[in-house]
Formats: sequence, structure tokens, C-alpha cells
Amino acid sequence: MKFSTKLIHNGNNIDPSTGAVSMPIYQSSTFHQFDLANPSKFDYSRSGNPTRHGLENIMAQLEGGTDAYAFASGMAATSAVFSIFSFGDHIVCCQDVYGGTFRALEKIFSRFGISHTFVDATNLDEIKNAIAPNTKAIFLETPSNPLLRITDIKGTVQIAKENNILTIIDNTFMTPYLQRPISLGVDIIIHSGTKFLSGHSDVLSGVVITATRQLGARIYQIQNGMGGVLGPQDCFLFIRGLKTLKVRLEEQQKTARILAQWFYDNNIAKKVYYPGLECHEGRQIHFNQADGAGAVLSIDFGNKEKAMHFMSSVTLAAVAVSLGGVETIISYPVMMSHAAMPVESREKLGITEGLVRISVGLEDVNDLIEDFKNALTFNC
Ligand code: PLP
Repeated sequence: MKFSTKLIHNGNNIDPSTGAVSMPIYQSSTFHQFDLANPSKFDYSRSGNPTRHGLENIMAQLEGGTDAYAFASGMAATSAVFSIFSFGDHIVCCQDVYGGTFRALEKIFSRFGISHTFVDATNLDEIKNAIAPNTKAIFLETPSNPLLRITDIKGTVQIAKENNILTIIDNTFMTPYLQRPISLGVDIIIHSGTKFLSGHSDVLSGVVITATRQLGARIYQIQNGMGGVLGPQDCFLFIRGLKTLKVRLEEQQKTARILAQWFYDNNIAKKVYYPGLECHEGRQIHFNQADGAGAVLSIDFGNKEKAMHFMSSVTLAAVAVSLGGVETIISYPVMMSHAAMPVESREKLGITEGLVRISVGLEDVNDLIEDFKNALTFNC
């Protein structure tokens, strides 16, 4: 079955008890046990809820995993994955990881004795060299946030397998429509469902998908034990958004490609970061492991004044944290997604004060170009 069909027909869209074609919101914290000797599938919504179960089944299928677990946010999902490790364990993590993930490792999990080393994961030797006897996992984001840097997933998986450790990937930017890491050998996938998956900037959510039942059981123990589950109302919104993932992302990606080329051809910025551009570093690796360049691009205007001017002058985009909605969203990484990262680390990575990230929405591309053109009349 092709991906777009799976989005609609996956065995979880018709309610088995009523035949409803839209997954009902089972807004119930607990479930009557008709026969205590034979407990029913659901007993308490932290342990399992039918609406959440439907969403989890869909996500497991879309990513080609055995199990999926839905959490209250992307960071709750990421934290659940870090929580399967123990005191004394070590994680190798790509250095330009989402700011919240950086903060969780630096400020929270380090207090519980889980150490980490940040590496330039575009260089497989750096990953290899950072592996220590207590390393238990490699954590990746590719394309990374916000510079869209590319890591070779298969190459990383090979290193992980040689060292008998796990590979974990945050697949938020690509979604399973464009990149399916489990098919490349990755063990655990994380999503901020807040972004393209739910797609309408109206629900915070996260998902973890595992390649094996054993790993799934470890994540379930954390989901049930620590309790950061996604509520049924939000599961419903997530499922509804998912149905249009392909059509949204196709269109958003098409527009992103045109905008990136427009910024590049018109020499408007110091640097344009987008994996769909011929000149993007790692482009070849990206297209060996993904089916498209996605709908996020970053533009370095060269200085803070130009970036600020652009953001305060656009009218057809929200200037906001987040990405992946139907509306174009412009973010300012140094004050938003990467505010938690120390200035020295940010500057070393190229996350400058001139950098803005654009998550392309469903507006007409010509309207966006016109709006951007007007916003780009710099006097600074
Ligand atoms: N991963 C990536 C790549 C993100 O961009 C974000 C949020 O921006 C997260 C994880 C965290 O997700 P959430 O905000 O849903 O907790």
C-alpha cells in the first residue's frame, strides 16, 4: 500500500464498536471492568486509551516500527527516550540538535548521571571517536535544526551496530512521508507531532516509534511509569491532521524549493540553507536517504538588523516559535529554538544573529515572494 493510502486506510480509522469513520475521542480516565478475572484491553487512560491507541498504531505503521507511544509534547517524547538509560550511561549526540534536546541533556539528564558528547555528526569519524566504553546510543537529527546539515544515517547505523549501541533519530523535519529511518536500520524514532504531523499549529504532541518489541516495552514502561501521555482530545486532532500529511507536505515542499531558489538567485542573503539547493552540503547523502528536501529553509541575512527588519516587515507569515503548520512561520533561532544554547556553541555552529528559519506554509508562492520582496527593502 502506498503512503497516501496508508494515511487514510490503516485499520485504525473506523471505530470497532460504532463504525464511526472518524476516530472518537474517548474522553474517559478509567474503564469499567465487566469481568475482573478477564481484564479488558483498557483499564486506565495513563496505561492505555483507545484514541491514543489508534494514533500510536497509525504512527507505528507509517514509520514501519513495531510499537509507537504518544506523549504530551516532542520534549516529553525525547525525555522518555533518554529515560530508558541509566546512571553511568553515555550518549553521543549531534551538536546542532534542537535547543530543547540540548537543554535536556545538559541541564537535566546530566544530573541523573547520563553523560553526553556533542559531535559534528556530518563527520562520521567524529561520531566514531566519541564512542566510549559506556556509550549506549547515538542521537541524530538530519536535516538538523536550523542549518539543515545532513548526517549519513546508514553510515551512523553501521558504527552503532559495530559498537552494539542504539541509534536514535529525531525525524520531526522530514516525517515518515519523506524519510523512514527504521528502514535504514535506526532503532528509535522521535517526533515532535506538534509540527508537520499534526500540521495545523493547534496541538502539542510527541511520538516515539521503536524498531523492536523489546525497545517498545522499554518505552512503554517510561510512558506508563512517568505518565507524560497525550490526552484523547489532542490524539484526535493529531489523527485528523495526519490524514492530509502528504498533500500538505508536497505543496509546502514545492513552495520551499521555489523560495530557496529565489533567495539564492537574487543574492538577497549571505547564505541560504536548504537541502533542495544544488549547492547544499550533504545534498547527495540526503537524497540517498530521503524522498524530498522538506519545507524548512534557513536564511542568513548577515546581521541582526537585517534579520529583525525582515521579521518585522513580513505580513504573510507568523513570526513565532515552531514549524510545520499550514501557515508560514518565521523563527529567530538565537532567541527562540536555540536560546537555551550558550552563545559560543551557537556561533561555532553558524547559528548567527542574522539567521532566520522559515517553515513554509500553504500560502500561494507568488504572494509569499511579493511579501518577502517588500520586506526586504533594507536601509541597514
Ligand atoms: N525536535 C525538534 C526538531 C523540534 O523542532 C522541536 C520543537 O521545536 C522538538 C523536538 C520539541 O517538540 P515540542 O515543542 O513538541 O516539545
